[in-house]
Amino acid sequence: GATIGFLGGGQLGRMTALAARSMGYDIQVLDPEAACATRPVASRTITAKFDDVNAAVDLASQCDVITLEIEQIHPDVLDAVAARTTLHPGREAVYIIQDRIRQKQWLKANDFPLGAFVAAQSADDIADAVRTHGPCIAKSTHGGYDGRGQVRLSNVDQAKDAWTALGGHPCVVEQRIDIAYEISVLVARSASGQVAVYPPSRNHHTSGILTWAVVPAVISDAMTQRAQHLARGVAERIGIVGLLAVECFVTKDNTLLVNELAPRPHNTYHHSERGLATSQFEQLVRAVCDLPLGDTTAFAPSAIVNLLGDVWVQDTPPAMEHALEVDGVRLHLYGKAGARAGRKMGHLSAIGTSAQDALGRVLESYRRLSPATTGSFDVHEPVLA
Ligand code: ATP
Ligand code: MG
Ligand code: MG
Repeated sequence: GATIGFLGGGQLGRMTALAARSMGYDIQVLDPEAACATRPVASRTITAKFDDVNAAVDLASQCDVITLEIEQIHPDVLDAVAARTTLHPGREAVYIIQDRIRQKQWLKANDFPLGAFVAAQSADDIADAVRTHGPCIAKSTHGGYDGRGQVRLSNVDQAKDAWTALGGHPCVVEQRIDIAYEISVLVARSASGQVAVYPPSRNHHTSGILTWAVVPAVISDAMTQRAQHLARGVAERIGIVGLLAVECFVTKDNTLLVNELAPRPHNTYHHSERGLATSQFEQLVRAVCDLPLGDTTAFAPSAIVNLLGDVWVQDTPPAMEHALEVDGVRLHLYGKAGARAGRKMGHLSAIGTSAQDALGRVLESYRRLSPATTGSFDVHEPVLA
């Protein structure tokens, strides 16, 4: 059968690899960590950094198509892979998305809705941004995820420290948005241009890390359509082949803004393995192998809550027996070596009779982990409607 290569061997790669294996594909992976999460499901793992052109050429020489589960891949590696085999998503889309300034400027140039932002080249630029826009968040240009590489500022006196904390590199300074709720929309696009748009996922973050996600989002039909139209527009304009997740903010006056883009499977769609007709992982395989895209209909409301290293005791996961007493709940562990606070180690998922019910089940399950701790998460259950 055909072989799919993955740049990145984290949990997103692992769950995609499991789907790909079910569909008869062989998997090879390049990742800097020898004990990466994909290791048990890949037939070959190349341990190398994401700027190692020789290692990437080696991967490309044995793969029919290469995809990625992380956007921080050196452009030289993207070029080297694309010159030797099929790379989906392509170099252009990944190059735009992997740099926060480039991504925002591209979104703005293409008239997609964004909050106010400044590309800061100095501590003075950060101070000016706060003076102009009030409370802000400074975000490093490269490599930030799970809220890392971000500094919140409320006044201009904090600009120097923020500049230093971000390593003295150019950064994006965003106005802090008064968020009513957060949603994301996942779009799949195949090599031959077929597009499938998922129902929006409603998401909740604690200190920049995703706590839970639920679908349906329990928002108006009008907002659902606006968000899907926006996400589809971004995916088509950037020419993604594979998956594109569009993270959005909705403000209290119902303004829809793009937060950021991800050209890969997304944590906010892990419930797609439970409640949606085609999981995001299977969909990525279909898209990059140019198979017909799968149905994105939600056949049951579904939700996930993340499990961070915070609730591990040293290297031991919390006891699950009471958590798994909650009907409809399943456990997904990523098999990562080395639990650390803030590190995503797994998730709990559930289907339910409504979004509220599915969310209630995963949060109830989470509260029953033993030893009982919420880690750093805010796990209060909002009324979704
Ligand atoms: P990810 O793990 O999704 O890649 P990240 O580190 O790239 O996360 P962002 O998505 O930029 O971080 O921000 C994380 C979260 O912080 C957002 O989902 C939102 O809850 C909050 N946040 C980010 N930017 C803003 C903003 N401008 N105004 C208000 N809240 C924000
Ligand atoms: Mg991000
Ligand atoms: Mg984000």
